[in-house]
Amino acid sequence: MSEKNLKSIFATIISQNHDLYSISKNDSLDQDFFLAKISGQLSYNISSMIEYPVVGDIIEFTHSPFDKIAIIHSICHRKSLLSRVASGSSNNIQPIAANIDIVFITSALDQNFNLSRIERYISVAWESGAQPAIILTKADLVSDLESKLVAIKQIAKSLQIFVTDNNAFASLKNFLLAKPQTVVFIGSSGVGKSTLINNLLGYEAMHTKEVRTSDHKGKHSTTHRQLFRLENGSQIIDTPGMRELQIDVGNIDETFEDIEFLAQNCQYKNCQHKGESGCAIFAAIEKGLLSKKRLENYQKILRENRYSQMSSSEIAEDKFKRYFGNKSEAKRVRNLKKSKQKDYRKF
Ligand code: GDP
Ligand code: ZN
Repeated sequence: MSEKNLKSIFATIISQNHDLYSISKNDSLDQDFFLAKISGQLSYNISSMIEYPVVGDIIEFTHSPFDKIAIIHSICHRKSLLSRVASGSSNNIQPIAANIDIVFITSALDQNFNLSRIERYISVAWESGAQPAIILTKADLVSDLESKLVAIKQIAKSLQIFVTDNNAFASLKNFLLAKPQTVVFIGSSGVGKSTLINNLLGYEAMHTKEVRTSDHKGKHSTTHRQLFRLENGSQIIDTPGMRELQIDVGNIDETFEDIEFLAQNCQYKNCQHKGESGCAIFAAIEKGLLSKKRLENYQKILRENRYSQMSSSEIAEDKFKRYFGNKSEAKRVRNLKKSKQKDYRKF
């Protein structure tokens, strides 16, 4: 049967694994999904990453009874798109999820509660074209809920706020069941997003939904479901990209809170944690409480953040200093290098 004779149908992308997609017809709750790839024509027409289908996209596809894999021909207009700047390039926008109605900014009420972080997430949410709303989790762990609510209302303004804990999430569930809407949860690791998603769905979606499939070449691949439906058609999306978004918007204190915390005990305020005396971070590494690798990652990210605000010659200068220590040593080596007609910028 030729492609032309096949009737095209609409479906939603429910997971993506490289160029292999799982798609599910829009009215089906759970079971009915199959694998799909984009057509040669669509692939030919795509000129940037943002034009590739992502989870949440509604696509037009055909499916020959002789083929295991369906063919995606086009993507329907997106009403919103959550995206991030792909690492390593300044203007390559990587789409993460499409057609989201609500971005839930999820934040725990315990010691991780951080207003400026929530503020940053709100701006990311607005960028996507979706409506932000706020979820405050772990209400069971705090006694000062009222004062935190007063503080958050100052930055959330008219945004809807939900307060939840492990046993109290009915307001959120009722909200999702009131009408079909597609939602995502963003927020730092550990705030309780997976717990909340499992609670809303009523099963362990985050661990159990691994689907093993094989394509027509007999190759096996595993796709994790990344879009979950509630009985009224509301959809919850949780993709790996969504998790990476945490690091993208977050600043250092978000992903390296432990190191920032330890650094408060360093003897010198401007401690560089490079082996100075009285360095609490080095002490923690020696005691086996912190891995050296983690400190290195932290320092790398600090540098990258700094570099993103510098000119290329300032970066070269900084790298030079890093390799040759103090200024006078740097100057000495630089003069030496200059005299040898070598360009120090290669460092
Ligand atoms: P995620 O990284 O945002 O997906 O966070 P998880 O859902 O994995 O939760 C991180 C930890 O917080 C787990 O140990 C959960 O059991 C715990 N947790 C999640 N929600 C609550 C809550 O409402 N109250 C309390 N006390 N703990 C919670
Ligand atoms: Zn230190």
